[in-house]
Amino acid sequence: MTKTVTALFREDFYLSTCEASVTGILEDGGIELDQTCFYATSGGQPGDSGFLERSDGSRIDIAVARHGATKDVIIHMPAEGQPAPAVGEKLVLHIDWPRRYRLMRMHTACHLLSVVCPFPITGAAVGEDESRVDFDMSETIDKDEVTAALQKLIDENHPVYLQWITDEELASNPGIVKSKNVRPPVGLGRVSLVCIGENSAIDSQPCGGTHVSETQEVGAIHIAKIEKKGKENRRFRIRFGTADDRQAI
Ligand SMILES: [Zn+2]
Repeated sequence: MTKTVTALFREDFYLSTCEASVTGILEDGGIELDQTCFYATSGGQPGDSGFLERSDGSRIDIAVARHGATKDVIIHMPAEGQPAPAVGEKLVLHIDWPRRYRLMRMHTACHLLSVVCPFPITGAAVGEDESRVDFDMSETIDKDEVTAALQKLIDENHPVYLQWITDEELASNPGIVKSKNVRPPVGLGRVSLVCIGENSAIDSQPCGGTHVSETQEVGAIHIAKIEKKGKENRRFRIRFGTADDRQAI
């Protein structure tokens, strides 16, 4: 029997640790908690890894957090060979913060790329070293021009923040969804809109992932490659570092 969890990361993307109690252990070893700061894999962003600290100081390493049958269930999958906690046991949760922060920077960069390239998105995968975004577009576009426009938005340091709307409000405004294949994070009754710029001047897009709070935090980024994947599909690969780093490789 899976239980719902208080997903603290939805309110605070910078929360790297919290306390929690074990509410269930699944057959496959998955651990359920009453609350968590572990982001669960969804919307193209990988789930958090990290560890659960027991009262004696020992650790249970977590390989990944994932959703159960529904999005209000989060299952913490232990790495192989880890001990199982007891139901009711109190733990201190720690996510792998350096990894998560890279994912937050990358994820925010993907949103900014969709501003620079205003085409429908057909797929996206956020990674800690490289992310990719697929666009439904047939135009040929220069990767250095895209990099320059992207870096300009980052350096202008626009605020990034959430606005919550109801599932019904989203359903009556389908035009705000840029993604063709990735479903907006509906099903929780409310949806977070990720807004960039004062009064969403730069962008606003439904997304349940984690993002930095100012674009400057993304840092140096560049388009490593634009691949032609069919007549009307372009795959953009984003990497950290400047375009000079790319040329050096
Ligand atoms: Zn997002």
